[in-house]
Amino acid sequence: MQPIQSFFSQLNIPKNIVITAHQKPDGDAMGSSLGLLHFLTQLGHKVTYISPTNWADFLEWMPGAKEVVNYEKHKKEATALVNEADIIFCLDFNILHRVKYFEPVIRNAKAIKVLIDHHEFPEIAAFDYGISLTSKSSTCEMVYDFIVDSGHDHLINLDIATCLYTGVMTDTGSFRFPSTTASVHRMVARLKETGLQHSLIHDYMFDNFLENRLRFMGHAFLHRMEVLYQYNTVVMSIPKKDLIKYDIKTGDTEGLVNWLLTIQGIKLAAIVIDRDEERKWSFRSKGNFDVNIFARLHFEGGGHKNASGGRSSDTIEGTTAKFHEVIQQYEKELN
Ligand code: 5GP
Ligand code: MN
Repeated sequence: MQPIQSFFSQLNIPKNIVITAHQKPDGDAMGSSLGLLHFLTQLGHKVTYISPTNWADFLEWMPGAKEVVNYEKHKKEATALVNEADIIFCLDFNILHRVKYFEPVIRNAKAIKVLIDHHEFPEIAAFDYGISLTSKSSTCEMVYDFIVDSGHDHLINLDIATCLYTGVMTDTGSFRFPSTTASVHRMVARLKETGLQHSLIHDYMFDNFLENRLRFMGHAFLHRMEVLYQYNTVVMSIPKKDLIKYDIKTGDTEGLVNWLLTIQGIKLAAIVIDRDEERKWSFRSKGNFDVNIFARLHFEGGGHKNASGGRSSDTIEGTTAKFHEVIQQYEKELN
């Protein structure tokens, strides 16, 4: 993988470009992809963002979201777009299996692959150019740097600002996590100059749910949460029947895991959700407990030191039992 700077000169010649990000995109994946799309379009490129899967309803308002191609729904069209592409940008993931069933299409594409990402342990052999910086708050911050460092600060408009702000806001826990550096605040100041309506974005992202989601959360806190004080850990296990009863959709469970960390003294929070294809884990930690390593070792996952995810093909009861078993070896580390 060559440094991203050696790619800058290729921005000047109009090309067919595909952007993709991890499956079930969050605010950062969607925001960085659409922010980059609005930038590249201004340079005269033909750009499409292909998402490997569907996304949460609360991302639908974003500028350009209506034009995103869902690979799972439009496999033929998406595959044709990839085969015609000169360049593929891979954002907010760094190992190709994170695009799920889209992986072979991306892996076998003849296009130049460019990585922009902030997760641990990139699969660098899979990319021609790229930048991988775990110190960065978000991929949105990295797309902002990409625009500025390639000499195009003047092209930052309201659409770009809106998309990039969304991802930096969600990935920093609304500017709360230690990753929120002075550079992040300087970037936000620059984005505000475009007329950015940050309060409105916050409302779209966090105050835009249906009643059933809050009732589901109440149910989950009451009946599905276990506090393991011995390990300063909280674990929540959501069976399929809860998702059906409360009509829970993609995105409705996002952020739930963070609530578990609000209990005094808790260092590790874990939630597992019984999705159709797999049991999906989310891990969050405070301080030195490394959930990237934890997810990698025990739950086929990864991510960041304090926020990671994983999966299991076991039953919800089975994978929850495994969590209870493996946590025992971390008693010292969590105290
Ligand atoms: P979340 O719990 O919000 O789904 O994910 C937390 C962080 O871990 C995000 O940065 C996400 O990209 C990453 N992550 C989630 N699931 C996985 C996974 O299965 N593998 C890897 N490598 N990273 C993941
Ligand atoms: Mn991210």
